[in-house]
Amino acid sequence: MSQSESHLLCCNSGFSRRGFLAGCAGGLGATTVLSSEILAAKGITAENTSTVEPIKAEPMKMREQGALTGGPQTHAYTDSVLWEYMTPATFRRRINAAPVVYLPMGTLEWHGWHNPLGTDGLEFRALMVDLANTVGGVVMPMLFLGPDLVREHEEKMYYGMDLHDPKAGNWDTSTPRKLDGSAYWINDDLFHAIMEQIIANVARQGVKILMLQGHGPSQNWVWKNGPAMSKKYNIEILILGGSQVDSLKDPSVKIGYDHAGSYETSLMMHYYPTMVHLDEFDNHPDEPLLAVAGADPRVHASREQGKIIAGIEKAKAVEILNKLLSDLKKS
Ligand SMILES: [Zn+2]
Repeated sequence: MSQSESHLLCCNSGFSRRGFLAGCAGGLGATTVLSSEILAAKGITAENTSTVEPIKAEPMKMREQGALTGGPQTHAYTDSVLWEYMTPATFRRRINAAPVVYLPMGTLEWHGWHNPLGTDGLEFRALMVDLANTVGGVVMPMLFLGPDLVREHEEKMYYGMDLHDPKAGNWDTSTPRKLDGSAYWINDDLFHAIMEQIIANVARQGVKILMLQGHGPSQNWVWKNGPAMSKKYNIEILILGGSQVDSLKDPSVKIGYDHAGSYETSLMMHYYPTMVHLDEFDNHPDEPLLAVAGADPRVHASREQGKIIAGIEKAKAVEILNKLLSDLKKS
């Protein structure tokens, strides 16, 4: 792919876009129905993408796993593809072999009583580590700051799921509450500045493809600003919101996309089997599904579903990345 053809992949590859409400409708009955406003604010939108021929990844190392997350890991989680762990020579070798960098756009955000606060970044970092081990490239540290819906109420500031009304399945700005552990919000201008500088820093290292995925409102920034950034810094910007739709279309996936519901919980159960604490629900019988949007994870989440979803999303991403890398070699 020539430099002048640089573009935001999702917008230029003929992928269809559709709302997740349509996707959710095909799943099991959700206990909390997401409004289109919440879906939009959380960036629950969809794009599809598509691709070939894996580049051989260097052997995985499993050292210091506990230091990375404080818990046991699956095969997908190793340090060998993490930027901050590499020597300059390892970094250069990997980028020369496959000029791809992955950025998990995370948060420190309430994800139900049962999931880790870093769920958004953790689930996509695990996917990206898996991808880097399969097609090559380097995974950046998780971003934990991001934009979101924000409101002031009685002189206090609330954002994101602080404003979610579990009964109505909608935003309720009259009764917000500060959810424990949520500490990620930054304003749009600051997020824009941070993202642009990350892209500039990555591009100056000779990276040709940047894959971004994670927190919904952070993804929204990519949909909006990706094409201009791609052109300005001469780098392909890839976002795989569409792979989620692919998994939703698959008859073996019985759940819809969500926030801390069955979808995210299943992915976490797959990637981090010891880090999801379903027994926490018993400690909160009055409000078990506080700020959970989507199908009830107590009923529908499972490690098996997470494995299926992760497999579908990985296959799609591998196909797209291999096609891009193959095009780059030809250009
Ligand atoms: Zn999430």
